[in-house]
Amino acid sequence: MSHTAELIAVGTELLLGNIANTDAQMISQGLSGIGINVFYHTVVGDNPERLRAAVEIAKRRADILITTGGLGPTCDDLTKNVLAAAFGKKLVFDEASAQRIRAYFQKLHARRPMTENNLQQAMLPEGCTVLSNDWGTAPGCAFEAEGVRVVMLPGPPRECREMFTHRALPYLQNLADGTILSRSLRIFGMGESAVESLLRDRMNAMTNPTLAPYAKEGEVELRITAKAPVEAQARDLIAPVEAELRALLGDVVYGADVPSIQAVAFALLEAQGLTLGAAESCTGGLVAKCITDLPGASGVFKGGVVSYTNEVKHGVLGVPRELLDQFGAVSPQVAEAMARGARRVLGADLAVSTTGVAGPDPDDRGNPVGLVYVALAGPDFCHVRELHLGGVRESIRIRAAGSAFDLIRRYLTGLDLNESDGRRFADRPTPLRTGLAALDQAKDL
Ligand code: ATP
Repeated sequence: MSHTAELIAVGTELLLGNIANTDAQMISQGLSGIGINVFYHTVVGDNPERLRAAVEIAKRRADILITTGGLGPTCDDLTKNVLAAAFGKKLVFDEASAQRIRAYFQKLHARRPMTENNLQQAMLPEGCTVLSNDWGTAPGCAFEAEGVRVVMLPGPPRECREMFTHRALPYLQNLADGTILSRSLRIFGMGESAVESLLRDRMNAMTNPTLAPYAKEGEVELRITAKAPVEAQARDLIAPVEAELRALLGDVVYGADVPSIQAVAFALLEAQGLTLGAAESCTGGLVAKCITDLPGASGVFKGGVVSYTNEVKHGVLGVPRELLDQFGAVSPQVAEAMARGARRVLGADLAVSTTGVAGPDPDDRGNPVGLVYVALAGPDFCHVRELHLGGVRESIRIRAAGSAFDLIRRYLTGLDLNESDGRRFADRPTPLRTGLAALDQAKDL
């Protein structure tokens, strides 16, 4: 039987826009991971009547109801009071929870004294399963009534995440008869609509496993989810579907259950003992940020130059002035010279560069927003990819940085670098030769 969940976040500060509803994001991701559908997110202020009204609506359209927030003494245990009343339950004192709260304050003792209010948090709906809170004071709780599973979690995101992962998920997983297993194929270089139109008929026809595409910034994730009595059977259901999708999609699939394109590029560099440098214009350091977000980056990443102006492109990276004057900063010639310059200046085995128009306006040479060149230079080659990206400034920058990592991945796995939106720089005759000649002269800079 499939289940439908609704999340109700309680907190006036959410409605005022003071904070974002990150608890809901985290919980929704977790629920979809175990195959539970989330059809509604509701946000209510700290107001008992409106919360009660929201619960009455949710009861009619969901069989799992998860609340966040409103469990603390500052809001008079609003959520517990309202939820217990809505399902006709009394609140009763739970001694085990009271002991945990006392122990928690004993540990904090010098920093925060316990008040009688804190013990109010040990009042819980009769007959509930207590979700003990090792990360804060307010215990969560869960009960089943009127055909609905109700789960209440504390609001502070750090507590909510731990409580959801270690308390609520195991409780909800019991609902699933058997195992739900997912595998995510990560795709770079093909948009969501292209993936969807290629797979639409298959997706509609599939029941187990199911297939769902998710658009991420600059890429697509395809999640294959199988349900089976045991995990090994779920894996067996997923394997042929994965093989079929890989054959269909080809080398735009950069991995399965991997965290990101930069993590894949990083792992390849590390495995092959190679170092990387970066020269960035339109991405303004994003390539460097993405790779240095990964632990152990210093073993691979030599450094980056944010060469935003022509002075820095010329003065630091040695991009010849003639190239900048003749072709402009946003050109394949300058992208190549930047990548080669970064390799030399940073002493790296490979270097990537980005130069383009992130917008919102075209550049002074009339290059359109979204035109970006991304280059990868190695000891005896340089490849430049030309991109025509849509979207706003931020997404153009993210996709340009992703493209740099995709070039690295393709190069290090022996794939064709020259896919549809790329061009092999060496194949471009006239301007290129001029560029390379000028570059040769500049090598001694
Ligand atoms: P406490 O025991 O700390 O009072 P609580 O369960 O009563 O916790 P709230 O008082 O509603 O939770 O919220 C505590 C803090 O947690 C809020 O100030 C807010 O910063 C954060 N918070 C609450 N709900 C959310 C949410 N849905 N997403 C992100 N942050 C949240």
